[in-house]
Amino acid sequence: MTNSTVIDCPQCSVRVKTDIKYWVGNAESDAYFLAECPSCKQALLGKAFVYQDEQMNYEWSNAERIWPVPANTEISSSIPVAARRDIKDAQKCLSHGIYSAAAVLCGKALERLIHEKAGANMMIGKGLAELKTKGIIDERLFTWAEALRKERNIGAHASEQETTRENAEDVIDFTIAIFDYVYTLSEKYDKYLARKAMPHGLPG
Ligand SMILES: [Zn+2]
Repeated sequence: MTNSTVIDCPQCSVRVKTDIKYWVGNAESDAYFLAECPSCKQALLGKAFVYQDEQMNYEWSNAERIWPVPANTEISSSIPVAARRDIKDAQKCLSHGIYSAAAVLCGKALERLIHEKAGANMMIGKGLAELKTKGIIDERLFTWAEALRKERNIGAHASEQETTRENAEDVIDFTIAIFDYVYTLSEKYDKYLARKAMPHGLPG
């Protein structure tokens, strides 16, 4: 078995092939390992598993970076569970270099948001406009969405164009931003209002 994996180096902003120096955990599910970026020598802590390739050789999977800076930002629990799963899967695809799938999963999450907040069966383009009209998203988010749509990064079918790493990152950033705005921010604001509405001081 080769003792190497592929992992993102945040300092070099590139995926590097690196030797695993030391690992712990269950290699068949999730093993945690320490490696070094071959170019900048940055220490990298990652998560990977072992699989068997077509020649029946055991290999390490591509790794998800955990430190420094987890490749996946935490997704707020205010976001509905199905959409949260799509966004997490999109982040996983990104860290494994499957960019088109990452964009498709974000599109799926955005559709869920649109169907819930703008109208069932509404397409992404029309839905985003509806969200703006209803005041559910602000002008800035809408402009951001339109820019991504024009670059065909959201709302396009996966086969229509090649999705680059940068495209996938842009779409994930936007998807997290819109979900945070629609769900997390409004939930926090509602809680704040509820707290303010509560009577203070002694009754009577
Ligand atoms: Zn590096």
